[in-house]
This record gives sequence, C-alpha cells and structure tokens, in this order.
Amino acid sequence: MAGFRTHITVSTVCGIVYGAAIKPMGFDPATAFLAAGVTGVGGMLPDLDSDSGIPVREMTGLAAAVLPMLLIPRLTNAGIGHEAMIATVVLIYFVIRYLGAYLLRAASVHRGMFHSIPAMAIAGLVVYLAYDSPNVKIRLALAGGVMIGFLSHLVLDELYSVDFNGVRVRLNSFAGSAVKFVSPSWFGTCVCYLMLGGLGWLAFKDSQQYLK
Ligand SMILES: [Zn+2]
Repeated sequence: MAGFRTHITVSTVCGIVYGAAIKPMGFDPATAFLAAGVTGVGGMLPDLDSDSGIPVREMTGLAAAVLPMLLIPRLTNAGIGHEAMIATVVLIYFVIRYLGAYLLRAASVHRGMFHSIPAMAIAGLVVYLAYDSPNVKIRLALAGGVMIGFLSHLVLDELYSVDFNGVRVRLNSFAGSAVKFVSPSWFGTCVCYLMLGGLGWLAFKDSQQYLK
C-alpha cells in the first residue's frame, strides 16, 4: 500500500490542480486556496484507521486544528461572543485531538470502512455541513475537494495492491480493499451507512435555505 508521504504528495498535487481548475468559476483566490488545502487533507483521512501512531497523531492534530476553523462562520452566525468562540474552538481541538484519536484507535480496523466510497461521501458531507456560507457554491467546492483528495487515497491504495511482475500483473492481498462499498464487517458497514444516511438527511435539510 501507498505510504503516508505518497498520499500527501498526490493529494496535494490534486489539490493544486483542483484549486486552479475551480478558480475561473468565480471563486476568489482565498477560496481556491482553501479548496486546495481541503483536498490535500482529504488524501490523508482514510488512514485515520491506521494503528501506527504517526499518521493518526499527525492527522488528528491537523483535523483538530482545521475543523474548528471551518466552523468559525457557523459559530459567527450563531451569534456567540468572541470569548465563547475561542473557548469552543479550543474545546473542539482537545476533543478531536485526544478523545477522537482514542476512539479511532479503539473502534477502527485498518482498511475497514474508512477505506470506502461511502466514507468518502461522509467526508464530503461533514465538510459541507461544517462550513456554513450563504454561497452554496463555496460549500460544494470544499466538499468536492475533500472527496477528490479522499478518492486519490483510495485509488492509490488500490494501485499499490497491484504487483507489476515482469509482464504479469498480480493482485496482492490488499486488492479490492480500498475502493469499495461494503466491508467484511457488517457492523462497520452498517455504522458507515447509518452515518451517511444521517448526514445526507442533515445536508438535505440544510440545503433548503438556498431554495427559498
Ligand atoms: Zn490507506
């Protein structure tokens, strides 16, 4: 399977291409840059299930820093004060950084449902819901970015499960374990689809504001 460095490199390149591609569609440079960054992060998300400490530590640290920032417009809209906002951001940081990392280690199986197409959709929905903006295009661009990064990871993991052995191409034991819709664990699969359904419903409710 592809290593941490390969994943970051590929998703960052995807992010730069994505940011450059969407910029002419009426996005300002800062938004295009943010979309590129979210794409880069998306490429690291599937390995949150990995038990080797470094990726989990790096990524929960990053998620802990980035997610509260994405929430700032939503917190501002909620009308809470400056101090309360800082307190909320700090609290979210610690919850993700420590409790989140603990739960991930306890609950996940490497190459389980974190490496799947529904998990990619969940990542997109989380970004869409977290980032509140009157401009739905920005929310969709960021959600699209994280999903592109996520997909780049899944595809890379699949590619790395192919051994090019002279002219014979052979699949190793990880083949088919990244770009998938269900995992051998029915429990993991059910939890994943329940989350997808719940977030999909929330996003549907949330999108009603744009139809008024
Ligand atoms: Zn992976």
